[in-house]
Amino acid sequence: HELKNPLTAIQSYTHLLRNQMGNLTPAQQDEFLAVIFEGSKRIHHLALELDDITQMETGQFRLKVEPVSFQEILLDSVKLMDSQIAEKKQTLQLNIPEELPSLQADAKRLNQILTHLLSNASKYTEESGQITVSARLAKNGAAAMLCIAVKDSGIGIAVEDQAKIFSQFFRADDKIVTKTHGTGLGLNITKKLVELQGGKIGFNSEYGKGSTFFFTIPI
Ligand code: ADP
Repeated sequence: HELKNPLTAIQSYTHLLRNQMGNLTPAQQDEFLAVIFEGSKRIHHLALELDDITQMETGQFRLKVEPVSFQEILLDSVKLMDSQIAEKKQTLQLNIPEELPSLQADAKRLNQILTHLLSNASKYTEESGQITVSARLAKNGAAAMLCIAVKDSGIGIAVEDQAKIFSQFFRADDKIVTKTHGTGLGLNITKKLVELQGGKIGFNSEYGKGSTFFFTIPI
């Protein structure tokens, strides 16, 4: 669907534009071009996800792990998600300690993890819902970790779906999920990205009440 539907939209709206150009108002032209742009963005997103999976599955995936600032990366992800969250009139709260040691992580990939969890929190939460990101330092044996949680007041995940949530192409059979675009690949990639950086990922969810996804990254 994520390849076929946007391609069909791009082809039919391009066809319309080429054949009806003289009869279309500037507003209609703009509307059609927006559909084409949106469709090409969806295909591009799918291509990036498939590229990540291919690289991971063929052992070609490389991380650039170095000391990075969690606060800076989180603010970059928040900036990327700001308009989607504002469009749905949702509230985003950040509970992050002011002083945190550097993390041993790949900045681009940590940004990808946070952006994906924020995007899901927003997509699978109704208008005016609440999203909270929190972080706290924790110890796992001798290793110090940062434990990060992204909590939403959204639709939650049914108990029978919970075991499948990290598998490739899984999407819940739910009205809100099916009317939202998505590939069912994002959480599978997110889990691998966390684990490749030495962390763990999990979630708690109550159907109809909301979900919290949490993960760790070594200090
Ligand atoms: P996508 O969002 O593209 O469908 P993901 O792999 O990110 O793919 O998520 C897989 C499925 O897990 C979603 O389709 C949805 O059913 C469920 N899901 C993920 N995050 C949440 C969330 N925060 N709240 C409720 N359901 C979620």
